Amino acid sequence: MNKVIIIGAGGVGTVVAHKCAQNPEVFNEIVIASRTKSKCDAVAKSIGKSNVTTDSVDADSVPQLVELFKKHRPNLVINVALPYQDLTIMDACLECGVNYLDTANYEPIDEAKFEYKWQWAYREKFEKAGLTAILGCGFDPGVSGVYTAYAAKHHFSAMEFLDIVDCNAGDHGKAFATNFNPEINIREVTQKGRYYEKGQWIETEPHEIHKPLNYPNIGAKESYVIYHEELESLVINYPTIKRARFWMTFGQEYLTHLRVIQNIGMASIEPIMYEGREIVPIQFLKAVLPNPKELGNNYHGETSIGCRISGRDKEGKLLTYYVYNNCSHEAAFKETGMQAVSYTTGVPAMIGAMMFLKGLWAKPGVHNVEEFDPDPFMEQLNKQGLPWHEVFNIDLEV
Ligand code: NDP
Repeated sequence: MNKVIIIGAGGVGTVVAHKCAQNPEVFNEIVIASRTKSKCDAVAKSIGKSNVTTDSVDADSVPQLVELFKKHRPNLVINVALPYQDLTIMDACLECGVNYLDTANYEPIDEAKFEYKWQWAYREKFEKAGLTAILGCGFDPGVSGVYTAYAAKHHFSAMEFLDIVDCNAGDHGKAFATNFNPEINIREVTQKGRYYEKGQWIETEPHEIHKPLNYPNIGAKESYVIYHEELESLVINYPTIKRARFWMTFGQEYLTHLRVIQNIGMASIEPIMYEGREIVPIQFLKAVLPNPKELGNNYHGETSIGCRISGRDKEGKLLTYYVYNNCSHEAAFKETGMQAVSYTTGVPAMIGAMMFLKGLWAKPGVHNVEEFDPDPFMEQLNKQGLPWHEVFNIDLEV
């Protein structure tokens, strides 16, 4: 009997729960738990299956997590709460002998820093306990690493230039909204840019490097180099890479709002006193912005995320390669009630969990996704709603 606990009932958690429930031969029992049980109940109700139950937990508290794990005895916890909870959940997993998967690396709440060092420090503990931890198993990070591993396994003898390109060409009809948790999203996109070249990390001002890139079925969209966490593990796991960058599209309207938000101090993570109580501006902002979970209803257009890679093929000849998925906001909403950004994150998290439960990705220790065999994961992407396409020897534009 396989039992998973999904922690988090936001946009991503909702998709993970729907997709696990669609695969009952792998996920026999599913528990959805988060701080607010009513949100979990609403997700379970929308799925309407007796093997989906709910519970409540504050995942900042190791004792509460331990109680939850002891009560339900899951094989695996799928952490789709916020990155702040990664370490407490990993601690509770070690205490109770539970395997672990997440979609975003740990960051301390008082410091917007995206690094794997905190979670990589758990490697030995997980190894000794015979437990598997799979890090960063959404789309990016996640599928971006699996695509890279697939390219290395099947097409390249040496990958030299890696550009991960993430385009959201959807329109939700709001003046400003973020596609996943606003606090995490704004912390990510307002930080300095950073990319890897010739063994060094090069820092840029936020959004300093940009140019239009063409996306399949979408066309040209202005794309900006930002720092993204999977670059850190990919350049270590593929040492032939000379340059690795991450590009994301932003509309002018979005960037203007972001600039105003920053200029007036609303993106700050420093607590301030307001009418006698301490508040954190970005957390207050989150409370007034549209909930990403509610965006799906009126969302049109699609996302396109992929890897553009060049280097030497298996015979040593120059090769350029582009592997990508396009995902429709409308289709994602029709299937799960969530928009494509939640969908493209939640589906890979479910597939990663499936890989673990089938024994294909079970390896004691703490691992990034590219350390596992990409083939069975790629096969499931095609079956579970995120089909991928490959193009060879084209102009990669980067
Ligand atoms: P939401 O804000 O919509 O949902 C977060 C959920 O986590 C809520 O249900 C919330 O419950 C719960 N939660 C927050 N704090 C706690 C806590 N202390 N204890 C228990 N539950 C808690 O976020 P999203 O669904 O949009 O995003 C989820 C995760 O996915 C984030 O970590 C994000 O970084 C990641 N992500 C990864 C991507 C990828 O491609 N790899 C892309 C997009 C997102 P409540 O409201 O009741 O507190």
